[in-house]
Amino acid sequence: MSDRKGVNDLDQPLSWLPETWAETLGTLGEPSYRGRQAFEWIWRHDARTYDDIAVWPKGLRARMAERYPFRRVDEERVRRGADGTTKLLLRLADGERVETVLLPHDYGTSVCVSSQVGCNMGCTFCASGILGRVRNLNAGEIMDQVAAAAAANRAPGGGPVRRVDLMGIGEPLDNYDHVLRFCRLVHAAPGFNLSYRHITLSTSGVVPAIYRLADEQLAITLAVSLHAPNDALRQRLMPINRAYPLAKLMPAARYYFETTGRRVSFEYAMLADVNDDPGTARELVDLLTATPMPCHVNLIPWNPVPEQAYEPSPMARVRSFRDLVQQHGISCTIRRELGQDIDAACGQLRHREEADRRPSRIRRNPPRFGAEGQSG
Ligand code: SF4
Repeated sequence: MSDRKGVNDLDQPLSWLPETWAETLGTLGEPSYRGRQAFEWIWRHDARTYDDIAVWPKGLRARMAERYPFRRVDEERVRRGADGTTKLLLRLADGERVETVLLPHDYGTSVCVSSQVGCNMGCTFCASGILGRVRNLNAGEIMDQVAAAAAANRAPGGGPVRRVDLMGIGEPLDNYDHVLRFCRLVHAAPGFNLSYRHITLSTSGVVPAIYRLADEQLAITLAVSLHAPNDALRQRLMPINRAYPLAKLMPAARYYFETTGRRVSFEYAMLADVNDDPGTARELVDLLTATPMPCHVNLIPWNPVPEQAYEPSPMARVRSFRDLVQQHGISCTIRRELGQDIDAACGQLRHREEADRRPSRIRRNPPRFGAEGQSG
């Protein structure tokens, strides 16, 4: 894929860490505290332009606007579910759209952000894979989703953002540099200042990037989208399994635990009569005990996507699957279903909008993967 020049630039101001702001302002003869002010006003006080940075003199605002312009995301649509889930459809500077979801929890609000416009991984149960990848998001665009979500949550009953999940549209490890910069941005003070432990990155299994992320030693929580305990079934559901089968993926997950000390989470979407029978649950137990590591299995009640021929597993079957896994001493829970009335699953709202507006974008052919992983 060739990223459009400028759009994916790590050097654009919204992707800057506080120290980059300070250095840049230093070249204009400004003291270093101005850098901290810029970061704080953009991410904590929602400054949409330099003119909104009230603590800066007018001349400085004008000089920065001329030399280092930036553009925030625009909220195009908001849908609020009965259970407090909020889904945002956001418009980027080039007119592309991404989805961001706010989820209420007992510990506070989590925000699920997208890392790409569309996705090339082609998981056969996912709405985002149908559209294919248009481009990567830059770090500032991912960060701006958190800011838009925080702003949408300022209504009565809302609260501060406590966690961020890179589980929206896109494969985060297919956009490594920007995703890593985003993690540093959302961790930085005086912005959202989230602990790395409160960031979860979900991957379909880009094995070399899992090793690379482990070696960053950032204590980010890794969630591996597993969805099947054997290669034949996983390949049917997730084309990436051809390039990175379970024999490569599971040691990578264990390396992540050994290097970071973080328990790995395995995501498992429950598809009726596909991967939800007791035999498959036993295979999953065998797979996880063959690669011992502290882990957690997260069973996901699947949200139907009209174009795809899967059905959600009945809840009784999901519970039996969980019980069987738990009986073998493996931590396993069922994800709470949130936002069902507002298409809260990954990619569904954007998919619906794009299918109406630009039907030619719908991908008809499955993606192919080379030895080095995904390629368009
Ligand atoms: S599940 Fe994730 S990796 Fe797979 S197609 Fe959907 S967005 Fe991409």
